[in-house]
Amino acid sequence: KFITFEGIDGAGKSTHIQFVSDCLRARGIDLVSSREPGGTPLGEKLRELVLHEPMHLETEALLMFASRREHVAQVIAPALARGAWVISDRFTDASFAYQGGGRGLDRAKLEALEQWVHPDLQPDLTFLFDVPLEVARARLDATRDLDKFEQEQADFFNATRNEYLRRAAQFPQRFRVIDSSRSIPEIREQLQAIVESLSA
Ligand code: C5P
Repeated sequence: KFITFEGIDGAGKSTHIQFVSDCLRARGIDLVSSREPGGTPLGEKLRELVLHEPMHLETEALLMFASRREHVAQVIAPALARGAWVISDRFTDASFAYQGGGRGLDRAKLEALEQWVHPDLQPDLTFLFDVPLEVARARLDATRDLDKFEQEQADFFNATRNEYLRRAAQFPQRFRVIDSSRSIPEIREQLQAIVESLSA
């Protein structure tokens, strides 16, 4: 199975990935854990570029999908083919949310890239960690990445979040929207129930 984790910055996504990975490994599942942008040596180089170099919006989208092409070919497809499970911290939904919703890139272009890069592959399950913007902002203030919110506009993150929620409504069979403004133990309980239903 292929499981992806999504959410805006500060939604608490990374806190919960380790928990779900541990749950699955404890159940004896052969698990490959990865991330985007990145996931391969070339993908990590592209990540550095795409996150730190100023560039045209379409260049950004193309590099995200270039990183993804490599990730699918080298990591995701081979792991699934040998029967392992794959967890990815972000996948194509992030391109729709950030480059599409947040930055305004035409959705049809993203759909064309998706068709090109992984025509036959979709996540079996996507966790969307959803929080109101104020909660995400307060969490980032309290930890790291404070600059990120100062640099980026609040309406960018709102648009990104809204596109995530729109996709969750469009693909309800694979999305599980997690209300990430709750406490970590409450969220873990919900995650554990979902994981148990999956690996039963
Ligand atoms: O999830 P992670 O913290 O690794 O993401 C790093 C950054 O990449 C985030 O701040 C996010 O804003 C950005 N990103 C993006 N477009 C994507 C994926 C991630 O702008 N498609």
